[in-house]
Amino acid sequence: MSASANSIVILTGAGISAESGIDTFRSAGGLWEQHRVEDVATPEGFARDPHLVLGFYDMRRAALAGVEPNPAHVALARLEREFAGELLLVTQNVDDLHERGGAARVLHMHGELKSALCSACGMRSRWEAPLIDRPPCPVCQARHLRPDVVWFGEMPYRMETIYAALETCDLFVSIGTSGAVYPAAGFVAEARANGARTLELNLEPSEGSRLFHESRLGPASALVPAWVEEVLSRETSG
Ligand code: NAD
Repeated sequence: MSASANSIVILTGAGISAESGIDTFRSAGGLWEQHRVEDVATPEGFARDPHLVLGFYDMRRAALAGVEPNPAHVALARLEREFAGELLLVTQNVDDLHERGGAARVLHMHGELKSALCSACGMRSRWEAPLIDRPPCPVCQARHLRPDVVWFGEMPYRMETIYAALETCDLFVSIGTSGAVYPAAGFVAEARANGARTLELNLEPSEGSRLFHESRLGPASALVPAWVEEVLSRETSG
């Protein structure tokens, strides 16, 4: 990956937060924190048992207080500040570790734990408290708040912005994602078809590994700071 880049799109997944102590999503067993994905991450699961789903995300949100960003989050925030070209940081994660690591412009394509979505008025509100007691929406007062998390079968956020960036970037980097969840898993093929170089940083080869020009295997806390250093030093030397 010797050529320098002017425009970079980065996609992160659960693997970047694993070393901070947030469990990844076990695609093989289909379990997320001991729950079946169908039960806690689909609109049907929510309709069947709202109490279970609200409680599940309340616990995930509360757990954020006990974790810290790791060197991979901090390095991407540094890249955001210091890279002179275009940079779009897209995450599939619903945690807030990119922001707490210092990143200011993160596109959360699957929503955020610290946001609530009102099913009555459609407004999204910053949210830190539990939702299980059905608090009123700060905008319309209806008691129809749900986690502002994109469930399976729902449309991820800001896809137009992401595809526009994938069209023009010259480097696409995927970090800590299994390549099992679409549409994010399709970004590498999209970027490559548009002429971008593609790099994967992951603990193990992902499902889409062969689509990348280069794969570096190892923990994100080591790989990401080293890659960021490389990009920034190439900029100053070139
Ligand atoms: P995934 O769990 O399917 O895959 C995680 C990937 O990260 C795996 O390929 C694994 O090998 C790799 N990995 C694990 N530890 C790593 C490390 N220390 N360094 C580098 N790579 C590491 O995750 P996904 O592809 O993001 O898809 C899961 C879905 O579940 C997403 O839609 C996401 O929204 C959601 N989810 C989010 C969080 C979070 O917000 N932190 C946590 C779990 C699941």
